[in-house]
Amino acid sequence: MDDLELGTRDKRGNWAPNAAALPAPIWQRPFSLRKVIAWLPSFFWPWNAFHLATALLWVFVLIPSWESLATLSIQNYLYLYGLNAVAIFAFFGVFELRYYIQRAQGTRFKYNAKFPADYPSDIFWFQSQNIDNFIRTVFVTVPLWTVVEFVMLWAYANSWAIWLPWGTHWAWLSFLILIAPAVHEVYFFFLHRLIHTPLLYKWVHSVHHNSINPSPWSSLSMHPGEGFPYMAEAWLHLLVPSNPLCAYFTLHSVGFGAINGHLGFEKFEIGGNAALDSHAYVHYLHHKYFEVNYGGDGLVPLDMLFGTWHDGSREADERMKERFREKRERMRRRARMSHPELGARITSFAGDSGGGESSESDAR
Ligand SMILES: [Zn+2]
Ligand SMILES: [Zn+2]
Repeated sequence: MDDLELGTRDKRGNWAPNAAALPAPIWQRPFSLRKVIAWLPSFFWPWNAFHLATALLWVFVLIPSWESLATLSIQNYLYLYGLNAVAIFAFFGVFELRYYIQRAQGTRFKYNAKFPADYPSDIFWFQSQNIDNFIRTVFVTVPLWTVVEFVMLWAYANSWAIWLPWGTHWAWLSFLILIAPAVHEVYFFFLHRLIHTPLLYKWVHSVHHNSINPSPWSSLSMHPGEGFPYMAEAWLHLLVPSNPLCAYFTLHSVGFGAINGHLGFEKFEIGGNAALDSHAYVHYLHHKYFEVNYGGDGLVPLDMLFGTWHDGSREADERMKERFREKRERMRRRARMSHPELGARITSFAGDSGGGESSESDAR
């Protein structure tokens, strides 16, 4: 496929889509029912359909018996951890192998022309983004994911959470699954905004942001202080009348679905003229600029509401730079009032978490 029909490549080889990112058609004005109907298949297929399929597989085939889940047994925990680790290794691994190791489509549709494996950096364990991100995923976030899952199953097995049957409550339970991706955007936005405050960024979230040029294994590469609350979104189902299948849909959308923002490519060529859309661009821009796009890719446009939306356009770039300028000015004024000599020295600090495009993005 010719990626230059849909985007442009700068002199460094970085590709960007021509079209600015848009929120979901339900939020676009003027409202068009035709657009909403045309968008619906991409809402379900393939990502949400995949998360639903794995949720079904876990609930009806893979998890231990409900009797055994009523007690907290180490065997069950280790079994569930093994399942999650193998599944994530296979799922993330397929993208890593095909597009980052074999480089099956080279840099076509790749936002950052560089492959992390070619640029060792001291910021990562073993100087390798891949090894560092892999270890943090498999030995930090997936064990915490499994704790969330284990406790969730324990609560259902003991009837401490309201477990509605599908036969009588199919409409409500279908509604819960339908709105789960939107709930995820809201939950993720506020959690993410919180961990971008200076102290939490420094001690917790900066681990995830080490990957300025994210690749599949960056998706769940997190400090435990982020990984645990991130995965614990599935516990929302314990607070409302729900069902283990709905809870698993959220758990897997959050766990497996983290890969969407970190794929690094706009599209994956899958034969002929067919391609799989990654939905990665909006979160890629977050990794590039830090202080934009705290939410997902616009299913619930909270970034628009709070003035932090970046759609990839030149105008959005200007707005972002203006915001950073105003912030620097505010900080300078505040510093001048409290420490006159310090205020004079603050000339280029960009914000909470270092805001603005990282010069390191060129180095990696
Ligand atoms: Zn990320
Ligand atoms: Zn962030």
